[in-house]
Amino acid sequence: MTTGVAILGATGSIGASTLDVIERHPDRFRCVAVSANRDVDGLAAICRRHRPAVAAMADSQAAAQLAVELRSQGLPTEVLAGPAGLLAVAECQEAEQVMAAIVGAAGLLPTLAAAHCGKRVLLANKESLVMSGRLLMDAIAASGAELLPIDSEHNAIFQCMPGAYRCGAPLPGVTEILLTASGGPFLDTPLSALPGKSPDDACAHPNWEMGRKISVDSATMMNKGLEVIEAAWLFGLPAEQIRVVIHPQSVVHSMVRMDDGSVLAQMGQPDMRTPIVYGMAWPERLDGGVKPLDLVSAGPLDFRAPDVERFPCLRLAQEALVAGGAAPLVLNAANEVAVQAFLGGAIQFTTIAEVIDQAMQQSGHLDSPNDVDSIVALDADIRRLTGELIRQREGRRHHA
Ligand code: NAD
Ligand code: MG
Repeated sequence: MTTGVAILGATGSIGASTLDVIERHPDRFRCVAVSANRDVDGLAAICRRHRPAVAAMADSQAAAQLAVELRSQGLPTEVLAGPAGLLAVAECQEAEQVMAAIVGAAGLLPTLAAAHCGKRVLLANKESLVMSGRLLMDAIAASGAELLPIDSEHNAIFQCMPGAYRCGAPLPGVTEILLTASGGPFLDTPLSALPGKSPDDACAHPNWEMGRKISVDSATMMNKGLEVIEAAWLFGLPAEQIRVVIHPQSVVHSMVRMDDGSVLAQMGQPDMRTPIVYGMAWPERLDGGVKPLDLVSAGPLDFRAPDVERFPCLRLAQEALVAGGAAPLVLNAANEVAVQAFLGGAIQFTTIAEVIDQAMQQSGHLDSPNDVDSIVALDADIRRLTGELIRQREGRRHHA
C-alpha cells in the first residue's frame, strides 16, 4: 500500500520539491489531493502527471478554468474552489499525510484542519504556528496527529533528538538551540545601500531557491525571527534558550546544545528535499535525490553573531515572542502586508521593518485570541491597520 499525500500549495517551491520526492518513490507515496491559489496552468500540469482525486484553487474563477481544462483532457480529478476547497484537500480521506506549504496566513485554516483530522502534518507553513501556536499544538495533541517540521532548521533540530521525541514536549537534556541563518543576500551590503535594494535584489538568495515572500523575509531576517517563534512552539522553549547564529554557507542547518557540553548539528545541502523526504518517510530514511554534501569543497564554515542594526526585523520578532499574547500574530500580519507592499514597489526595503514596528506599537499589548475566528478577525484588523500606515507614508512622500 502506498501512503496518500495531500499538498497544500502544490504549485510553489515546497510543493514542487514534494512532488519530486513522490515521483522518486511511486511504490511508497502517491499524490491524492493538491491545492493552489490561482496558477491554473501549473495545477493542470500537476493533475496530468499525478492524477490526484481532488484539486482545489483558492480563486474560484481559476477553479472554473481548471475544471474546464481537466474535463477537456478527460482527467478524473474533482475540482473544488475557495476556502472550502482548501479544507477539502486538507481533510481528504485518502491522504495520510498533508504537506502544509501554502505561504502566509492563508495556510492557517487548512493546516489546522489537517491537524484536527489526525493527519501527519508536514509543516512548512511557519506562519500558522506564529499566528496561532497554541491552537495548532493543541489540535495536534487532541487528535493524535503527527507533526513533522519541514522548515530546514526545525527539521535539523528534530533530527538531533532521540527517536522517541515528539514535537510539543520539552527537549530532553537541551540547554539551548542554535538556529542557523544564512544572513540572506544583504549580509555584507553597506547599510546605506539597503534602502535602494529592489525586490529582485532581495529575492536573489545566495543558497536557497524559494518563493518571493520567504525570500524577502530571508533578506530582512524576519524569516529567522518567525523561525524563533516557530521553534518556541515546536520545542517548548523560552526565548532565552533560542539563539540565532549567522552561518553564510547554509551547511549546518541548525544545532542543539546539550547539558553535557555536546553540541549536535545536522548538515546537508541547501535542498528542501532532505527535510521533506525525512518528514514523509519518518521514522525511516529514504533517498530524496539530494546530492551528497562534500565538506571539503563546501569550504570553511563561518559562524557569527547577527547584527541587530542591519536586521531590525529579527529583533522585532524576538521582542514579540517575549511579549507574548497576540504580539506574534500582529508581527506576522504586519510583515505580510509590508512585504507585499515592497514586492509591489510601494515601499522601500528598509521601510518594511519601520512599518512593522509602527503597527506593533499602535496595536499595543493584546491578549492572544483563543479561538480561530478571533485570530482570523485580528489578523484582518492588523492588515487593515498596516495598509493604512503604508498609505499614510505614501501620502507624506508625495507631499514632500
Ligand atoms: P511559494 O510562493 O513558492 O508557493 C506558495 C504556494 O501557496 C503556491 O502553491 C500558491 O499557489 C499557494 N498560495 C499562495 N497564496 C495562497 C492563498 N491566498 N490561498 C491559497 N493558496 C495560496 O512559497 P514556498 O517558498 O513554497 O513557501 C511555502 C511555505 O513554506 C511558506 O510558509 C514558507 O515560509 C515555507 N518554507 C519554504 C521554504 C522554501 O525553501 N521554499 C523553506 C522553509 C519554509
Ligand atoms: Mg528555514
